[in-house]
Amino acid sequence: MRYFERKIKMANVNEDFLNLENDYLFSTITNKKIEFEKNNPDKKVINLGIGDVSLPLAPVVIEAMKKAVDEMSKKETFRGYGIVQGYDFLIDRILDVEYKKRGVSLERQEVFIAAGSKGDLAGMAEILSKENKVAIMDPVYPAYRDTNIMLGRNDIVYLKATEENGFTPEIPKEHVDIIYLCSPNNPTGTVLTRKQLEDWVKYAKENNSIIFYDSVYEIFIEDRDIPHSIYEIEGAKEVAVEFRSYSKLAGFTGVRCSFTVVPKELKAYTKSGKKVDLNTLFRRRQSTKFGAAAYITQRAAEAVYTDLGQKQIRENIRYYKENAKYIKEELEKVGFTVYGGESSPYIWLKTPNNMKSWDFFDKLLNEAQVVGTPGVGFGSSGEGYFRLTAFSSKEDTKEAVNRITKLFN
Ligand SMILES: *Cc1c(COP(=O)(O)O)cnc(C)c1O
Repeated sequence: MRYFERKIKMANVNEDFLNLENDYLFSTITNKKIEFEKNNPDKKVINLGIGDVSLPLAPVVIEAMKKAVDEMSKKETFRGYGIVQGYDFLIDRILDVEYKKRGVSLERQEVFIAAGSKGDLAGMAEILSKENKVAIMDPVYPAYRDTNIMLGRNDIVYLKATEENGFTPEIPKEHVDIIYLCSPNNPTGTVLTRKQLEDWVKYAKENNSIIFYDSVYEIFIEDRDIPHSIYEIEGAKEVAVEFRSYSKLAGFTGVRCSFTVVPKELKAYTKSGKKVDLNTLFRRRQSTKFGAAAYITQRAAEAVYTDLGQKQIRENIRYYKENAKYIKEELEKVGFTVYGGESSPYIWLKTPNNMKSWDFFDKLLNEAQVVGTPGVGFGSSGEGYFRLTAFSSKEDTKEAVNRITKLFN
């Protein structure tokens, strides 16, 4: 107040950012782990909490990157600023392998290459009005909520994913404008069936809503009947944006490459009811705020689509899936109720005797020296659940699971 009275000008902070809850989940986990290790230097703690891959990049990817680096070293083949949309050599492979083979036809201009889905999710959220009402699953990847809060969008409806509804959110009774769907889901590992996706597309059409379809874990899908893309559903191009990433698909978490599909049929409206083409608006947004993914990175992603590339990345996925299967089966043997772990690298387990998520965390850390992620950290409906990931080494996964099963046998 004093300052206003003195009429001193000052820079103001964007107060929407102050509405964020503290990002305490992963910092609390890390602090607890460090504290335990300090007090128990002789004990080895195994981390099954990380949501990051651990296997190195596929050899074909490394080869492609090296070749691209060499090109950068010669005047004739050097590349400067890239095309914001992404290079055609990569887009064409995506159109063919990810879509055409699944019966979906898209145009080059509908696929945007970028440096990670996290940024794309935020970029898309930004081109829609902050007055929109948003539906987000609970529990879910926390970035959806936080991105919207940062944009000043506070009208958020949480769709509860519980054991009763098979961790599949029910369609809201009320109207919502933006719907976040994540399938296979992080953290619950559940996948949306064709029928469920059809229902969402129908709802979105009836409500003029837009679906943000996050399918960065699609490579983990097991069941042949589960769609890999929302565009396998008729009419989805009119209502959905799809987010894909090479992070989990090919271990690019440190390389950074993703793509987002914004179909030309997709429209939103001005307040006066005029239709606006989101593909054009998103392109405008990208060209102003995003500097294109690196040439080297896009060559690396392209290599994923060679026959050898497909073979090599699938070997890595199989490795993680074997870990997931092991965790699931061994925990079930001692009586745990376990979800996920089939079409997903995540195991979503119910804590025994309705233990709180954090109490279970403490017990595992103190008595088995295993770190996981308390389910409640992904939303209040995650209370009483716990997430383990399959991204560790086979040896560590086995050791961790054996310690847990001993504790609860
Ligand atoms: C890892 C992850 C992403 C995206 O990661 P990027 O590395 O930014 O591509 C998006 N959504 C979910 C649910 C994730 O778990």
